[in-house]
Amino acid sequence: MSGYGEVFRRGRGRHRRRRRAPLKTAAAVSALVTCSAFAVHAVDDDQEDCVPLPAGAKGGRGNLPAWCHDHRAGGAPAGKGGPGDTGDGVARDGDSGHRDRPAAPPAPEGVYDRERCGNTSGRVLLTLDDWPYNDPERSVRIGAQLKAQGIRAAFFLIGKFAAQYPQITRQLRQQGHWVGNHSYTHRHLPSLDDDELHDEIRNGVAGNLLRPPYGDAGERERELAAELGFRICNWTIDTHDWEKTQGHARSVDDIRASVRDATPEEKRNGVVLGHLFSNFPDALPDIVSDLQAQGYQVCRNNGPVTEKVPYPLDC
Ligand SMILES: [Zn+2]
Repeated sequence: MSGYGEVFRRGRGRHRRRRRAPLKTAAAVSALVTCSAFAVHAVDDDQEDCVPLPAGAKGGRGNLPAWCHDHRAGGAPAGKGGPGDTGDGVARDGDSGHRDRPAAPPAPEGVYDRERCGNTSGRVLLTLDDWPYNDPERSVRIGAQLKAQGIRAAFFLIGKFAAQYPQITRQLRQQGHWVGNHSYTHRHLPSLDDDELHDEIRNGVAGNLLRPPYGDAGERERELAAELGFRICNWTIDTHDWEKTQGHARSVDDIRASVRDATPEEKRNGVVLGHLFSNFPDALPDIVSDLQAQGYQVCRNNGPVTEKVPYPLDC
């Protein structure tokens, strides 16, 4: 994360103890407020619609439920609305979009690059986030398909669900895929107090890579994650697979195009963000063939892995 997000966070101070920071309005930029498709998963039938909250309700920004997404037109997310709970303690939400922002300059050689997850292989790492809500085994089927193509991906599972199906994490790692921490209940980490933040990370999937929900982690979050043994792992290409337009999930073709049309800088040593509940998994064969046609390779599957992901990535 860089640019606007960093500026925004600095302005809020590092050591708040409020349970929920007051969610700022569009603040420094005019924001185009949209609802994430993620608010209504393609495979989840217990979602609420992305409709404004009652006046004075907490947990959202701009009077929208927190799991609605805010995006600055043509750029980075505006200020990060904090995800709220949806009744079961899990923020049903996607990750904020970044595809249109200018790619952050690569970190200097030898410095861990959070947006590339330490990928210095030249190849592209495919990542799949959250959870396939009504079909948990979808994770393993996707993993098997990728393995059959000789591809290693990374899965960032919401800890609460992963804990209910521990065999899925085991099977994915056995298939040769990395499985990382995506917090316990997918809350917006910068909005949490220190104790909550600690619990969200500690109770997530064990390992050493943390993908913060919405990709949002400031200095405080990064420091605590490091104390708990995690490096931050974000992405260079957001497929926006979580978006819905007029109730329609983003199509396979549109998701495919997000990767195909990304810049060379975003692809080389790149990381692609998709989700387990969307059409992203169905777009993977086309995404891989497009990348290969453009001269890029994806991370190779070299067999079973442990919970510790090496740096630089073994792609
Ligand atoms: Zn997520």
